[in-house]
Amino acid sequence: MRLDGVLGQRPALQRLSAELAAGRLAHAYLFVGPAGVGRGSTARALFLALNCRQRDRETPCGQCDSCHRFLAGTHEDFIELAPPDDAASAQIKVEAVRQVIHTLGFAPFAGGVRLVLIRSAGHLNPSSANALLKTLEEPPPDNILVLTVQDPRELLPTLVSRCRKVTFSPLPDETVRGELVRRGVDPEAARLRAAAAGGSLGRALKLDEDELGRRLEWINAALGRGGGPAEDWAFAEELVGTFRGARIDRQGLAQALDLMALVFRDQAVSAAGRPEMRLMAGQSPDEDLELAAERFALVRRAQERILGNAAPELAVAVLMDDLRRAGTRRRF
Ligand SMILES: [Zn+2]
Repeated sequence: MRLDGVLGQRPALQRLSAELAAGRLAHAYLFVGPAGVGRGSTARALFLALNCRQRDRETPCGQCDSCHRFLAGTHEDFIELAPPDDAASAQIKVEAVRQVIHTLGFAPFAGGVRLVLIRSAGHLNPSSANALLKTLEEPPPDNILVLTVQDPRELLPTLVSRCRKVTFSPLPDETVRGELVRRGVDPEAARLRAAAAGGSLGRALKLDEDELGRRLEWINAALGRGGGPAEDWAFAEELVGTFRGARIDRQGLAQALDLMALVFRDQAVSAAGRPEMRLMAGQSPDEDLELAAERFALVRRAQERILGNAAPELAVAVLMDDLRRAGTRRRF
Protein backbone atom coordinates (compact mmCIF):
# COMPACT_ATOMS: atom_id res chain seq x y z
CA MET A 1 0.00 0.00 0.00
CA ARG A 2 1.29 3.49 -0.68
CA LEU A 3 0.62 6.77 1.09
CA ASP A 4 -2.11 8.87 -0.38
CA GLY A 5 -3.87 12.18 0.01
CA VAL A 6 -0.95 14.48 0.84
CA LEU A 7 -0.22 17.49 -1.33
CA GLY A 8 3.30 17.65 -2.81
CA GLN A 9 6.18 16.09 -0.78
CA ARG A 10 6.88 13.35 -3.33
CA PRO A 11 10.35 12.33 -2.07
CA ALA A 12 9.15 11.93 1.53
CA LEU A 13 6.03 10.00 0.48
CA GLN A 14 7.88 7.74 -1.93
CA ARG A 15 10.43 6.89 0.69
CA LEU A 16 7.84 6.10 3.36
CA SER A 17 5.73 4.12 0.89
CA ALA A 18 8.77 2.03 -0.01
CA GLU A 19 9.57 1.41 3.66
CA LEU A 20 5.95 0.49 4.29
CA ALA A 21 5.83 -1.91 1.33
CA ALA A 22 9.09 -3.56 2.41
CA GLY A 23 7.99 -3.83 6.03
CA ARG A 24 10.98 -1.74 7.08
CA LEU A 25 9.33 1.18 8.85
CA ALA A 26 11.26 2.64 11.76
CA HIS A 27 9.63 2.69 15.19
CA ALA A 28 10.36 6.40 15.55
CA TYR A 29 10.42 9.13 12.92
CA LEU A 30 11.40 12.75 12.96
CA PHE A 31 9.50 14.70 10.29
CA VAL A 32 11.51 17.86 9.63
CA GLY A 33 10.17 20.82 7.69
CA PRO A 34 8.24 24.09 7.84
CA ALA A 35 4.82 24.20 9.51
CA GLY A 36 1.84 23.60 7.26
CA VAL A 37 3.55 21.66 4.46
CA GLY A 38 2.09 18.23 5.21
CA ARG A 39 4.08 16.59 8.01
CA GLY A 40 0.99 15.89 10.12
CA SER A 41 -1.06 14.86 7.08
CA THR A 42 1.67 12.39 6.15
CA ALA A 43 1.61 10.86 9.63
CA ARG A 44 -2.17 10.47 9.28
CA ALA A 45 -1.82 8.93 5.83
CA LEU A 46 0.74 6.52 7.26
CA PHE A 47 -1.67 5.50 10.01
CA LEU A 48 -4.48 4.93 7.48
CA ALA A 49 -2.24 2.82 5.24
CA LEU A 50 -1.00 0.75 8.18
CA ASN A 51 -4.45 0.02 9.52
CA CYS A 52 -6.74 -0.22 6.49
CA ARG A 53 -8.40 -3.65 6.54
CA GLN A 54 -8.06 -3.93 2.77
CA ARG A 55 -4.30 -4.01 2.67
CA ASP A 56 -4.23 -5.60 -0.76
CA ARG A 57 -5.44 -2.31 -2.27
CA GLU A 58 -3.00 0.22 -3.61
CA THR A 59 -4.29 3.03 -1.37
CA PRO A 60 -6.35 3.00 1.86
CA CYS A 61 -9.99 2.20 1.08
CA GLY A 62 -11.66 4.86 3.21
CA GLN A 63 -14.56 2.43 3.71
CA CYS A 64 -13.49 -0.28 6.13
CA ASP A 65 -14.12 -0.07 9.85
CA SER A 66 -10.59 1.15 10.57
CA CYS A 67 -10.53 3.85 7.86
CA HIS A 68 -14.03 4.89 8.82
CA ARG A 69 -13.25 5.36 12.48
CA PHE A 70 -10.04 7.22 11.75
CA LEU A 71 -11.77 9.59 9.34
CA ALA A 72 -14.49 10.19 11.94
CA GLY A 73 -11.75 11.08 14.44
CA THR A 74 -12.61 8.24 16.79
CA HIS A 75 -9.82 5.72 16.20
CA GLU A 76 -8.32 5.00 19.63
CA ASP A 77 -4.95 3.90 18.22
CA PHE A 78 -4.14 7.26 16.70
CA ILE A 79 -2.81 9.53 19.45
CA GLU A 80 -1.86 13.13 18.95
CA LEU A 81 0.16 15.22 21.37
CA ALA A 82 0.78 18.92 20.83
CA PRO A 83 1.50 22.07 22.83
CA PRO A 84 -1.72 23.70 24.08
CA ASP A 85 -1.41 26.67 21.71
CA ASP A 86 0.85 28.20 19.09
CA ALA A 87 2.69 30.45 21.54
CA ALA A 88 6.44 29.99 21.37
CA SER A 89 6.47 29.50 25.16
CA ALA A 90 3.81 26.73 25.16
CA GLN A 91 5.03 23.40 26.55
CA ILE A 92 4.19 19.74 26.14
CA LYS A 93 3.95 18.75 29.79
CA VAL A 94 5.49 15.63 31.27
CA GLU A 95 2.09 14.42 32.56
CA ALA A 96 0.80 14.23 28.99
CA VAL A 97 3.90 12.30 27.89
CA ARG A 98 3.56 9.87 30.82
CA GLN A 99 -0.08 9.28 29.91
CA VAL A 100 0.95 8.32 26.36
CA ILE A 101 3.72 6.03 27.63
CA HIS A 102 1.20 4.33 29.91
CA THR A 103 -1.13 3.71 26.95
CA LEU A 104 1.74 2.26 24.92
CA GLY A 105 2.02 -0.43 27.61
CA PHE A 106 -1.18 -1.96 26.19
CA ALA A 107 -1.33 -3.60 22.78
CA PRO A 108 -3.09 -1.46 20.14
CA PHE A 109 -6.80 -1.70 20.89
CA ALA A 110 -7.89 -2.46 17.34
CA GLY A 111 -5.14 -5.02 16.79
CA GLY A 112 -3.26 -3.01 14.16
CA VAL A 113 -0.50 -0.48 14.58
CA ARG A 114 -0.76 2.45 16.98
CA LEU A 115 0.73 5.76 15.86
CA VAL A 116 1.63 8.56 18.24
CA LEU A 117 2.05 11.93 16.56
CA ILE A 118 3.93 14.48 18.67
CA ARG A 119 3.48 17.80 16.89
CA SER A 120 5.88 20.71 17.48
CA ALA A 121 8.14 18.39 19.46
CA GLY A 122 10.50 21.31 20.11
CA HIS A 123 7.95 22.28 22.76
CA LEU A 124 8.72 19.19 24.87
CA ASN A 125 10.09 20.62 28.10
CA PRO A 126 13.23 18.98 29.57
CA SER A 127 11.26 16.59 31.83
CA SER A 128 8.96 15.59 28.97
CA ALA A 129 11.91 14.97 26.66
CA ASN A 130 13.61 12.85 29.32
CA ALA A 131 10.47 10.85 29.97
CA LEU A 132 10.24 10.11 26.25
CA LEU A 133 13.85 9.00 25.75
CA LYS A 134 13.54 5.34 26.67
CA THR A 135 10.23 4.84 24.83
CA LEU A 136 11.67 6.45 21.73
CA GLU A 137 14.60 4.08 21.76
CA GLU A 138 12.48 0.98 22.03
CA PRO A 139 8.71 1.44 21.86
CA PRO A 140 6.59 -1.65 22.61
CA PRO A 141 5.81 -3.66 19.44
CA ASP A 142 3.24 -2.34 16.97
CA ASN A 143 3.73 1.28 17.98
CA ILE A 144 5.24 4.03 15.84
CA LEU A 145 6.13 7.46 17.11
CA VAL A 146 6.31 10.43 14.77
CA LEU A 147 7.76 13.73 16.01
CA THR A 148 7.49 16.89 13.92
CA VAL A 149 9.91 19.80 14.16
CA GLN A 150 10.87 22.69 11.93
CA ASP A 151 14.53 22.23 12.74
CA PRO A 152 16.22 19.26 14.48
CA ARG A 153 18.16 21.75 16.63
CA GLU A 154 14.92 22.31 18.53
CA LEU A 155 15.37 18.87 20.10
CA LEU A 156 17.94 17.24 22.39
CA PRO A 157 20.48 15.40 20.21
CA THR A 158 19.70 12.24 22.19
CA LEU A 159 16.10 12.41 20.91
CA VAL A 160 17.12 13.18 17.34
CA SER A 161 19.53 10.26 17.20
CA ARG A 162 16.77 7.82 18.16
CA CYS A 163 14.55 8.80 15.22
CA ARG A 164 14.75 8.20 11.48
CA LYS A 165 14.69 11.61 9.82
CA VAL A 166 12.40 12.48 6.89
CA THR A 167 12.69 15.91 5.32
CA PHE A 168 9.70 17.93 4.07
CA SER A 169 10.14 20.95 1.79
CA PRO A 170 8.18 24.17 1.39
CA LEU A 171 5.50 23.69 -1.28
CA PRO A 172 5.85 25.58 -4.58
CA ASP A 173 3.67 28.75 -4.64
CA GLU A 174 1.82 27.27 -7.60
CA THR A 175 0.82 24.18 -5.63
CA VAL A 176 -0.44 26.29 -2.71
CA ARG A 177 -2.30 28.64 -5.06
CA GLY A 178 -3.95 25.74 -6.88
CA GLU A 179 -5.09 24.17 -3.62
CA LEU A 180 -6.52 27.49 -2.36
CA VAL A 181 -8.49 27.91 -5.59
CA ARG A 182 -9.69 24.31 -5.34
CA ARG A 183 -11.01 25.22 -1.88
CA GLY A 184 -12.93 28.15 -3.28
CA VAL A 185 -10.56 31.10 -2.73
CA ASP A 186 -10.73 33.81 -5.39
CA PRO A 187 -7.77 33.29 -7.84
CA GLU A 188 -6.27 36.78 -7.31
CA ALA A 189 -6.45 36.53 -3.53
CA ALA A 190 -5.03 33.02 -3.77
CA ARG A 191 -1.98 34.30 -5.64
CA LEU A 192 -1.17 36.84 -2.93
CA ARG A 193 -1.84 34.47 -0.07
CA ALA A 194 0.29 31.74 -1.67
CA ALA A 195 3.16 34.16 -2.22
CA ALA A 196 2.99 35.46 1.36
CA ALA A 197 2.77 32.00 2.91
CA GLY A 198 6.34 30.91 2.22
CA GLY A 199 5.40 27.49 0.81
CA SER A 200 3.09 26.56 3.68
CA LEU A 201 -0.46 25.55 2.78
CA GLY A 202 -1.35 25.64 6.47
CA ARG A 203 -0.24 29.25 6.75
CA ALA A 204 -1.92 30.22 3.46
CA LEU A 205 -5.21 28.83 4.74
CA LYS A 206 -4.92 30.82 7.97
CA LEU A 207 -3.84 34.11 6.39
CA ASP A 208 -6.65 36.52 6.04
CA GLU A 209 -6.38 39.38 3.65
CA ASP A 210 -7.22 42.04 6.22
CA GLU A 211 -4.37 40.84 8.39
CA LEU A 212 -2.05 40.85 5.37
CA GLY A 213 -3.11 44.41 4.63
CA ARG A 214 -2.42 45.52 8.21
CA ARG A 215 1.00 43.92 8.27
CA LEU A 216 1.81 45.47 4.93
CA GLU A 217 0.86 48.93 6.19
CA TRP A 218 2.99 48.43 9.29
CA ILE A 219 6.00 47.44 7.20
CA ASN A 220 5.45 50.29 4.75
CA ALA A 221 5.26 52.75 7.63
CA ALA A 222 8.52 51.39 9.07
CA LEU A 223 10.21 51.69 5.69
CA GLY A 224 8.76 55.12 4.98
CA ARG A 225 9.81 57.00 8.10
CA GLY A 226 13.22 58.63 8.20
CA GLY A 227 14.43 56.75 11.20
CA GLY A 228 17.80 56.00 12.66
CA PRO A 229 19.41 53.34 14.84
CA ALA A 230 16.97 53.87 17.75
CA GLU A 231 13.88 53.54 15.54
CA ASP A 232 15.35 50.52 13.73
CA TRP A 233 16.03 48.82 17.03
CA ALA A 234 12.52 49.59 18.33
CA PHE A 235 10.96 48.15 15.16
CA ALA A 236 13.22 45.08 15.41
CA GLU A 237 12.30 44.49 19.05
CA GLU A 238 8.60 44.82 18.33
CA LEU A 239 8.73 42.43 15.37
CA VAL A 240 11.01 39.87 17.01
CA GLY A 241 9.02 40.05 20.28
CA THR A 242 6.02 38.41 18.62
CA PHE A 243 8.17 35.35 17.82
CA ARG A 244 9.95 35.03 21.12
CA GLY A 245 8.93 32.60 23.84
CA ALA A 246 10.88 29.81 25.53
CA ARG A 247 12.95 29.98 22.37
CA ILE A 248 12.89 32.16 19.31
CA ASP A 249 10.72 30.97 16.40
CA ARG A 250 13.25 31.70 13.66
CA GLN A 251 11.13 30.16 10.90
CA GLY A 252 8.14 32.29 11.83
CA LEU A 253 10.21 35.45 11.96
CA ALA A 254 11.86 34.74 8.61
CA GLN A 255 8.45 34.13 7.10
CA ALA A 256 7.16 37.42 8.49
CA LEU A 257 9.85 39.10 6.43
CA ASP A 258 8.46 37.37 3.31
CA LEU A 259 5.83 40.08 3.14
CA MET A 260 8.53 42.73 3.05
CA ALA A 261 10.29 40.81 0.27
CA LEU A 262 6.96 40.75 -1.60
CA VAL A 263 6.71 44.54 -1.51
CA PHE A 264 10.08 44.84 -3.23
CA ARG A 265 9.37 42.00 -5.61
CA ASP A 266 6.22 43.84 -6.72
CA GLN A 267 8.13 47.07 -7.14
CA ALA A 268 10.72 45.26 -9.24
CA VAL A 269 8.23 43.67 -11.64
CA SER A 270 6.40 47.01 -11.98
CA ALA A 271 9.62 48.85 -12.71
CA ALA A 272 10.55 46.15 -15.21
CA GLY A 273 7.33 46.96 -17.07
CA ARG A 274 5.49 43.80 -15.98
CA PRO A 275 2.75 45.23 -13.73
CA GLU A 276 0.54 42.26 -14.63
CA MET A 277 2.91 40.10 -12.58
CA ARG A 278 2.36 42.13 -9.42
CA LEU A 279 0.93 40.21 -6.50
CA MET A 280 -0.57 43.09 -4.58
CA ALA A 281 -3.17 45.57 -5.69
CA GLY A 282 -2.99 49.27 -4.87
CA GLN A 283 0.78 49.58 -4.60
CA SER A 284 2.37 52.61 -6.20
CA PRO A 285 4.94 51.36 -8.69
CA ASP A 286 8.54 52.12 -7.92
CA GLU A 287 10.48 53.44 -10.88
CA ASP A 288 13.80 52.03 -9.83
CA LEU A 289 14.28 48.38 -10.77
CA GLU A 290 17.78 48.13 -9.35
CA LEU A 291 16.77 49.58 -5.99
CA ALA A 292 13.83 47.20 -5.67
CA ALA A 293 16.00 44.23 -6.64
CA GLU A 294 18.71 45.25 -4.19
CA ARG A 295 16.21 45.64 -1.36
CA PHE A 296 14.66 42.27 -2.20
CA ALA A 297 18.13 40.69 -1.95
CA LEU A 298 18.74 42.45 1.38
CA VAL A 299 15.57 40.95 2.85
CA ARG A 300 16.55 37.48 1.63
CA ARG A 301 20.00 37.86 3.18
CA ALA A 302 18.48 38.92 6.52
CA GLN A 303 16.18 35.87 6.39
CA GLU A 304 19.21 33.62 5.88
CA ARG A 305 20.97 35.24 8.84
CA ILE A 306 17.92 34.73 11.02
CA LEU A 307 17.63 31.08 10.00
CA GLY A 308 21.33 30.74 10.78
CA ASN A 309 22.23 31.73 14.28
CA ALA A 310 22.32 35.53 14.09
CA ALA A 311 20.86 37.55 16.96
CA PRO A 312 17.39 38.22 15.49
CA GLU A 313 16.91 41.81 16.72
CA LEU A 314 20.31 42.72 15.32
CA ALA A 315 19.56 41.06 11.98
CA VAL A 316 16.28 43.00 11.64
CA ALA A 317 17.78 46.31 12.78
CA VAL A 318 20.69 45.92 10.35
CA LEU A 319 18.20 45.09 7.59
CA MET A 320 16.21 48.28 8.21
CA ASP A 321 19.39 50.32 8.14
CA ASP A 322 20.59 48.59 4.95
CA LEU A 323 17.23 49.20 3.25
CA ARG A 324 17.31 52.90 4.07
CA ARG A 325 20.95 53.27 3.00
CA ALA A 326 20.19 51.55 -0.31
CA GLY A 327 17.45 54.13 -0.94
CA THR A 328 19.65 57.10 0.01
CA ARG A 329 22.47 55.95 -2.24
CA ARG A 330 20.13 55.72 -5.22
CA ARG A 331 18.47 59.05 -4.63
CA PHE A 332 21.57 61.24 -4.40
ZN1 LIG B 1 -9.68 0.89 4.79
